[in-house]
Amino acid sequence: MVNHMLMITADFENIASLQPQGGCDDPDFSYFFKIKCGRCGEVSEKETCVTLNDTVPLLQGKGTAHLIQKCKFCGRDGTVTMIPGKGKPLTQELSEGAKYAPLMLFDFRGYEPEGFVFSGAWTAESVYMLGECQ
Ligand SMILES: [Zn+2]
Repeated sequence: MVNHMLMITADFENIASLQPQGGCDDPDFSYFFKIKCGRCGEVSEKETCVTLNDTVPLLQGKGTAHLIQKCKFCGRDGTVTMIPGKGKPLTQELSEGAKYAPLMLFDFRGYEPEGFVFSGAWTAESVYMLGECQ
């Protein structure tokens, strides 16, 4: 079992914090990334997408994952499970210290993440206009 924490950083100017619209554990926020097969090293052509709200039952055993995908090349099944409750907004303090904020923890089995793609709705809080910035 390999857990990967998605970490973000950004250059802030007049922004106090940055996080997905509904917070790091926003159930409807989609994370996009490519996956690399742990057996043959094949990287998926398209980005795949996981959302906390969107689970699929595991083929074997009990429980659910957020993604089950078979490698097109070697046929190996892999799963990705999101582990909420570990993320923090990226704050100006972290940004100024060139530090990263943890966003979401992912449990990759059979696959490795190969680059996250940022899209979706983000909320940025302005230092000077708290609550008024879109
Ligand atoms: Zn493969």
